[in-house]
Amino acid sequence: MPTPLSELGEFSLINRLTSEYKAQNESTIKGIGDDAAVLKNNADQVRLVTTDMLLEGVHFDLVYTPLKHLGYKAIVVNLSDIFAMNGRPEAVTVSLGISSKFSVEQIEELYSGIYAALEHYGVDLVGGDTCASQNGLVISVTCLGSAAKDEVVYRHGAQENDLICCSGNLGAAYMGLMLLEREKRIFLADPTPYFSPKFEEREYIIERQLRPEARGDIIEIMRNTGIHPTSMMDISDGLSSELHHICDNSQVGAVVYAERIPIDSETFAMAEELSIDPFTAALDGGEDYELLFTVPLKYYSAVEGIKGISIIGHITDKENGVKLILPNGSEQDISSGGWEAQKAL
Ligand code: ADP
Ligand code: MG
Repeated sequence: MPTPLSELGEFSLINRLTSEYKAQNESTIKGIGDDAAVLKNNADQVRLVTTDMLLEGVHFDLVYTPLKHLGYKAIVVNLSDIFAMNGRPEAVTVSLGISSKFSVEQIEELYSGIYAALEHYGVDLVGGDTCASQNGLVISVTCLGSAAKDEVVYRHGAQENDLICCSGNLGAAYMGLMLLEREKRIFLADPTPYFSPKFEEREYIIERQLRPEARGDIIEIMRNTGIHPTSMMDISDGLSSELHHICDNSQVGAVVYAERIPIDSETFAMAEELSIDPFTAALDGGEDYELLFTVPLKYYSAVEGIKGISIIGHITDKENGVKLILPNGSEQDISSGGWEAQKAL
């Protein structure tokens, strides 16, 4: 009997396809299993490589996604994985599958967003591929970066008693998506050219969904402050899923305090309006592209003093599992079910 893909899910499928695989070249320092692959470059530096694909109908909906924003986001999601290794992004290739419903001007619009992101982050476009697609738009970006050899931060270095930190705030991109989907449903129920979606006082969460940024600024601040994380990854699938990745890879457990998870007031307001638990949005919502990292306890005051970084918990013994402490003091398991895995497969 053939096994349905839904039986495995995204991460189990990748694991099944690659767990027996061994890289053949000694230049491959870290292959599959982190935010980016790490390859030998020269005596001092390593090369970082990451790739991400965005598919129409799976990752974006052109009913409410401006093509310029989409181009910007396609670059940002890749740069985020290079920053998550504590690296510097340098160059990208952009490959497109384009269906005949698009005009030349629309693809130029997509590229205006790509160029805007490249300029903002100081990264070069160095190639790609262009093909016809039968089913909508496909954007596949590969990003190359570099890092000093001893600077690279993996998912596997978290140690017991380390502080768990994250940048920015969480759940905003997910609540932005929920609002966009709601307005789309309202529009489709009664399509009129005069339709005006209700986005007042929700601009921030919509921007977080449609045009995210990658946190190179946080990487730079930590470098300048002399803070070296023991482990790090970006939060693309949701905090709960990423915490499990760090804990599994580092062979540790974690305790996170719900009231310490940074959540923006617009996220709270939107969650309340849609009767969604804001903590669930922050834990399981995806696409915030913030950084999740661990630092030794000695950096407590240094990290606490940095605007835009929150200390949300600490690393424990593996036996403890991955736990959330609720505001009333009760404890519950954090499940690994992030949003992307459920959505993609
Ligand atoms: P991220 O969310 O950081 O982009 P993913 O969860 O997509 O990372 O992927 C996890 C790891 O599995 C990465 O190292 C990635 O390169 C690798 N990977 C994903 N899909 C495949 C595949 N089809 N073949 C080989 N490696 C893969
Ligand atoms: Mg990542």
